[in-house]
Amino acid sequence: MRRLEVSNDELASGNSVIGIEGCMSNLNFGARAEVAVAKSMRKSPLQPVAKISPIQVAPTIRSLTPYEAVNSQAYVDARAAREEVFKLDWNESTIGPSPKVNDAILAALQGLRGLNWYPPLGGADLLQGLASYTALPGENLLVTNGSDDALALVCTSFLDRGDDVLVPVPTYNHFMVFAQSQGANVRTVQAADVFSKNLDGIRAAMTRKTRLLYLVSPNNPTGVVFEPADVEALCLEFPRTLVVLDEAYFEFSQVTGIALVERLPNLLVTRTFSKAFGLAGLRVGYLAADASILDGLRRVYNPKSVNSLAQIGAAAALTDLDYLHSYIAQVRVSKELLSQFFGSRNVEAYATAANFVVVRTGDLSRAMNLLEDQGVYVRDRSSYPGLDGCFRMTVGTVDQTRRLIERMSDIF
Ligand SMILES: *Cc1c(COP(=O)(O)O)cnc(C)c1O
Repeated sequence: MRRLEVSNDELASGNSVIGIEGCMSNLNFGARAEVAVAKSMRKSPLQPVAKISPIQVAPTIRSLTPYEAVNSQAYVDARAAREEVFKLDWNESTIGPSPKVNDAILAALQGLRGLNWYPPLGGADLLQGLASYTALPGENLLVTNGSDDALALVCTSFLDRGDDVLVPVPTYNHFMVFAQSQGANVRTVQAADVFSKNLDGIRAAMTRKTRLLYLVSPNNPTGVVFEPADVEALCLEFPRTLVVLDEAYFEFSQVTGIALVERLPNLLVTRTFSKAFGLAGLRVGYLAADASILDGLRRVYNPKSVNSLAQIGAAAALTDLDYLHSYIAQVRVSKELLSQFFGSRNVEAYATAANFVVVRTGDLSRAMNLLEDQGVYVRDRSSYPGLDGCFRMTVGTVDQTRRLIERMSDIF
């Protein structure tokens, strides 16, 4: 066996030639090389760098407001070993995905197709499952790394500096970051009653030049649902506007405009496996649109952005729709239980068409502190327009909800 020795001088000069044979036959090479590099760096005659000032991000990025990713995960992890903790701040499923998902991923890890290979490009197998789930031809679908990735891709491909973008608020703010990072001019429109559709307000705020309209249905956090007829009317009325319909919570409402993409070339629908399917950790989403839009997106699209295990897991989830539907049914009953609970305490609560409720309290920070004492983590949405004093709370299974209500009985 050839021993592989690389001198510090060789490493520092970048002149060392590392034969593949040496690499393959000497498993210690990596560690040894690291030590060598560390040594060489210590004595490297680098110039002091103090005079170089930090590199600024691009001006477009400097001016945007970053998405505020506040997550209770660290607190939940710290407590979960001792007690049941209710992590209800990010609208994730409160139970794991179908057991078929874990089985499929474990089988894949033990199977022939190794992780050394790139994933099937464009999620080929998953796409088949999605075609059947959405009742759309595969040519209208694109698989993405979560639906955030789909939203970012749409913005990258369709927005330029100064483009007019309209967003009814309050809604999912992450989209604004994607649009603003393209230099687009994001305008918001807010209804007097933020729990209403406000179609007239949206129409009035649109212009012939509006390049993109972002609708979320059911909306996060208000739960407002746009019917297919609403979406179709807007698309027809504003044929030069790309209407992006974010259906992250579609499974809970069962109201969808996805079939319209076959008729409307200016509609794009995004969906995800992160919510009802319980796969937020895998990062899989998809979008549906006319083939002409997909052609545009493919100019930037990274066909290997959804990893192999995520593709396999999501495809497996689609083979167990009974599991999905039973979870959806549980959430529906739980929302009724929560409505009754808050109603009986005279607390203003909105049971939305999605898997969360919005609750308004007189003293929000007190309520949130007491909830936290009880191991209940919810999301403060009081800074959102029209939602002063409000928190958003994910809804889970019926058993969980009964225990949750017990914990809340002394608070409200
Ligand atoms: C959670 C959420 C997303 C992000 O979903 P991922 O698929 O996990 O990226 C997108 N849109 C809305 C409205 C959401 O609430």
